[in-house]
Amino acid sequence: MCCAHSLRSQMATSFVPVDTEDFYLFPIKPGIRNTLAGTMGEIRRTHFHTGIDIRTGGVQGVPVLAAADGYISRISVSPGGYGNAIYISHANGQITVYAHLKSFSEQFESYLVSEQYKKETFAINLFPDKETFKVNKGDTIALSGNSGSSGGPHLHFDIRNNEQAVLNPLIFNFEEIVDTRPPEVRKIAFKTMDINSRINGEFGRFVFDAKKVNGQYILDKPVNMKGTIGVELFAFDRQDWTRFRTGITRIEMKLNGNVEFVQEIKKIPFSKSRNFYSHVNYLELKQRGLRFHRLYVDNGNELEFYTTNSNRGLLEFGEDCTGVIEIEMNDTYDNKSELQIDINCYLDSMKNVNKIPTIDGSSSKQIDNTLIIYSVTTNGEENAEVHLGHETQYLLPAYSLDQIDVFLWNLNDGIPDSITLCESTEYIQIDALIPPDRPYSFFSQNIEAKFSKRTLFDTIYLDVSHRNNIEEIGERFIFGTDIYPIRSNIDILLLPENDYPDKDHSAVYSVDDAGNFYYSGGKWEGDKIRFKTRSLGQFTILSDTIPPVLKPLIINNEKLVFRIEDKMSGIKSFTVKLNDQWVLMKYDPKQKQIWSQKIDADIPFEGNLVVLIIDNSGNEEVYSTSIR
Ligand SMILES: [Zn+2]
Repeated sequence: MCCAHSLRSQMATSFVPVDTEDFYLFPIKPGIRNTLAGTMGEIRRTHFHTGIDIRTGGVQGVPVLAAADGYISRISVSPGGYGNAIYISHANGQITVYAHLKSFSEQFESYLVSEQYKKETFAINLFPDKETFKVNKGDTIALSGNSGSSGGPHLHFDIRNNEQAVLNPLIFNFEEIVDTRPPEVRKIAFKTMDINSRINGEFGRFVFDAKKVNGQYILDKPVNMKGTIGVELFAFDRQDWTRFRTGITRIEMKLNGNVEFVQEIKKIPFSKSRNFYSHVNYLELKQRGLRFHRLYVDNGNELEFYTTNSNRGLLEFGEDCTGVIEIEMNDTYDNKSELQIDINCYLDSMKNVNKIPTIDGSSSKQIDNTLIIYSVTTNGEENAEVHLGHETQYLLPAYSLDQIDVFLWNLNDGIPDSITLCESTEYIQIDALIPPDRPYSFFSQNIEAKFSKRTLFDTIYLDVSHRNNIEEIGERFIFGTDIYPIRSNIDILLLPENDYPDKDHSAVYSVDDAGNFYYSGGKWEGDKIRFKTRSLGQFTILSDTIPPVLKPLIINNEKLVFRIEDKMSGIKSFTVKLNDQWVLMKYDPKQKQIWSQKIDADIPFEGNLVVLIIDNSGNEEVYSTSIR
């Protein structure tokens, strides 16, 4: 293992905020005690949270104050994401961002509206120059809201440096926030990282519940480890007076006193934020919503907030079967928790919690590059026959559990077509192995796919198939399963069997496990259709000929409000014209509403009104009336 000592001294000063005190004012009700619904670096469903979510008492319209002197360098409006957001550039080179706003202060709002009218667009990004809007610390710049993809009224506040990286706002000592509570641990997972490694005598990933005894987190029983092991931690922080789970700033893992892995989330560059999917356990997050930090740097992970031993933070267990793993967690306020795991020699009582499936004959599953085949025990009398094309290899059980033999096959030694055990044959559904770090083209009868050298974090194994059942489900293109995170788009060309005469209205949709369809778009190239995706799984081609729903809610001289919705391909655009003049409509997809914003409040809406809504498949809905 590498030098624990130099590691330690490097980390020693990390919690002392240097000249950061009092630079920023808390942007919501400064001086009054408040709580957060989120912190920077916290694991969300699809990303690291970039700032702090400041609670606004469940209401919108709370004044938002400039955190320091500076100038407005950006105003942005979008139906999703940050919604209405304002950016202030400061003399220290940092930028503060205030998002999900209800509205902007008078002077910014009127500038925004005039630019929206000039460009005839609702969604906009404006970059005023240094001289246009100077602000002083404490000036009201906006009212808090719930715009964009916000799940409730709050202010999202983040602080960025001049290299497009977000920083932890809580290092700026806001007295409004109090945190005296240490991080909480829920679960820990251990994973064998190669075919010779074992956890309590087994190969695989095993999850253990942590419990707190006398202020320290421990496991029920010691664990036995052999070989190379990856550790994953499901833990979070909570602050005072709030039930919200927030992020942990620093995690340090030691094995027998040596520091093996440290993660300290001080900044996250936007250019690397997609590596989130490699930092977390993608499957646990996706399927069970569990937020595991991997305490090792997985293949393809380009984030730079780790310090590790020479093997990326993986733990190595040799002959000596006793020892201790200590994991220390800190929040920004230096509250600490520790999880201690005793490593002991293997005893039968250590059996892992996740039981292997009850089997009849044999069954198989795959973990990374290893295929695991379970079979009812034959007392070592029979080998597994691994069929690779014309070649057959014989495999002995790697270990046995109760009445089950477990065979392990390294897929780097070849992808088997099938495996025969006790006269029962398992067919292996792997049609392609796609390597990372290089361009790769995949061809099959109904699906072609192009991977760039940036597409994958790690090797993926795909089962690719095509089903066609016109009466029930139509045509299905199966391109792997959504168990691997994808860094950047895969370019896919579908070669359908069926005829799609109405190509103008037909597009690719992804299909989830519950059978729901999600518009993926696509461009026809003759009888083939090309689209891009960042998730593997099932796809189909559907035709959307139903125009969007367009329902007037309020139409008078002062205000226009419509309900708009498109259930299949989704809303592409909305245009409202009064006497042929473009009218600004604000849009909130959550409420499925558009509503008017006049450029001149004194001029009533009067005359011929035409509303046009277009969906992503080109279906149009028009509404016209005259306002007197
Ligand atoms: Zn937020």
